[in-house]
Amino acid sequence: MNNRPVRNSILCPNCRKLVSSDEARCPHCGIPSPGSRLKNNALTRGWGSGESLVLIVIYVNIGMYLISLLLNPRMMGMGLNPFGLLAPDHRSLAVLGATGTLLMNQSAGWWTLLTANYLHGSVLHIFFNMMALYHISPLITQLFGPYRYFAIYTLSGMGGFWISYMAGIPLTIGASAALCGLIGAALYYGRSRGGIFGQTIYKQVGIWALFILVFGLLVQGINNWAHIGGMATGALMALALGYHERIREKLAHRLLAAGCMLATALALLWALFRGVMYWFS
Ligand SMILES: [Zn+2]
Repeated sequence: MNNRPVRNSILCPNCRKLVSSDEARCPHCGIPSPGSRLKNNALTRGWGSGESLVLIVIYVNIGMYLISLLLNPRMMGMGLNPFGLLAPDHRSLAVLGATGTLLMNQSAGWWTLLTANYLHGSVLHIFFNMMALYHISPLITQLFGPYRYFAIYTLSGMGGFWISYMAGIPLTIGASAALCGLIGAALYYGRSRGGIFGQTIYKQVGIWALFILVFGLLVQGINNWAHIGGMATGALMALALGYHERIREKLAHRLLAAGCMLATALALLWALFRGVMYWFS
């Protein structure tokens, strides 16, 4: 008979080595209580390589877009202007958490800095943003890991919208501030790493950045403050958090990402609750 007490083995949330869940300290890296629920939960582990995370972000964007259309289908933009095609009405977007001075100074709060990242103004707006997100995300999840990827994405979106708020932009939405954060992180990586690989990434992503900035100056109604603010936030985050070749993803990165995930989920749930109330009003 086996009388040994059951000891569950887990991966240390900091160094990813096998430890017992009731260990007071990780014998490998020394963090206190690696098995605690705070450090070891669904939000701090099991994000995999980041592929499914990227898809979830895209699906949530599509879901929020569809909800914003359905909230007031009669007001849906059907004009001949391709950039206004299938545009949700402004009231629905405000209910679901668009951001900017117009809303922040009235009813809406800081939570809109999160929700606005997941709202779009037309079918082309969401299509271009999701295409770009789908193409740049694998690079960032590989260079930084899924936790740092999501932290950079979330905080750059908030940073970009906060800067555009400070600049007085009245109403704004879209994933492009967060997307520009990923671009800023890749630019920082390319510059910081150097070598042929770093330079190649810097040049390739630099062309994207240049395109976004030139496009933003030529086309009316684009929130350049959010783009530039997002890029700057992303580069600063990459500097602060580091990348794989310099530092592995550890507990602090996981906790930051878990916090971003929790805050995003709560903000989106609040937006959906407001949507339901609006629907029945
Ligand atoms: Zn450890």
